[in-house]
Amino acid sequence: MFAYEDGLLLTRPRLWVDVRRRQRRAFVSHAHADHMARHEMAFCTTETAHLYRTRLGPRPVREMRYGSAIELAGVRLTALPAGHCLGSAMLLAEQDGRSLLYTGDFKLGPSLTAAPAQPVKADWLVMESTFGRPEYRLPPRSEVVEQLLHTVHDALDAGRTPVVHAYALGKSQEVTKILTANGVPVLQHPHAWRISRVYEACGCELGSGAADVAEYHRAPLAGHAVVTLPRSMKNHRLPGLGPVVSIAVTGWAAAPGAAKRLGVDVALPLSDHADYTELIRLVELVEPQVVYCTHGPAGFVDRLRSLGHDARPLAPEPQGRLF
Ligand SMILES: [Zn+2]
Repeated sequence: MFAYEDGLLLTRPRLWVDVRRRQRRAFVSHAHADHMARHEMAFCTTETAHLYRTRLGPRPVREMRYGSAIELAGVRLTALPAGHCLGSAMLLAEQDGRSLLYTGDFKLGPSLTAAPAQPVKADWLVMESTFGRPEYRLPPRSEVVEQLLHTVHDALDAGRTPVVHAYALGKSQEVTKILTANGVPVLQHPHAWRISRVYEACGCELGSGAADVAEYHRAPLAGHAVVTLPRSMKNHRLPGLGPVVSIAVTGWAAAPGAAKRLGVDVALPLSDHADYTELIRLVELVEPQVVYCTHGPAGFVDRLRSLGHDARPLAPEPQGRLF
């Protein structure tokens, strides 16, 4: 989220790192809980608005369309696809010939359920850097998908239920679509199912009908995979599962020992965030004068500096006047 300081509003835009604090007006980059608050007025894409209201109830929202600028007190604001989950957006803010790009959570690689990221050149870049360590260079997605399908089919052949642990918004839908596209029907945890209804209402089909994707009820079905919440969430358990093969899908699986750490049989590095390589690639694409990094390790700022960029951590306090 990118928030404007209240009161001085828009003549003095400032950056805030506390993306969960209620603001008078705020850009909500996407509908993950760590990027939302009950703002007096939220600016976001139509898809994020739908998800935001599903999660937080009826809220005042000004909807934005990808690539279609709005004017607000002399600042031109454009939402651009971020490739992270349905509706996820970067925000391009332009005023007096100067520009700032805020990424929110993003990914440059392909997705079946999110519009591909479209970063543009900007004078200032504010970027998330979650996987800003070299060990988080993820393998090619095609390899990870192959591993996932292999694991799921092996489980089914052995008479076990493949249970994929994934966040209810974004990863659950991506995994579901990967599986159904490869002939494996899916039963979803009720939380993921509720979010999936919004995806489908927004035109993002996760399968070719009720035979492909359904809500989990009391027991697994033969030949089906189950998608549930991450094991770290207390309500991930589903009744009646019987013998399972548990699978975590997360970028954190790129680090050694991930399966044990995550408490699953198999951990696969399928991410909806940019990996280390993509983070650096983004800076090359945007060519900013200054890069502010947030949500990531301090070492990533040092790495960007070593590559010749003016990189700074985004401080917990407002950064001062930008335009
Ligand atoms: Zn996110």
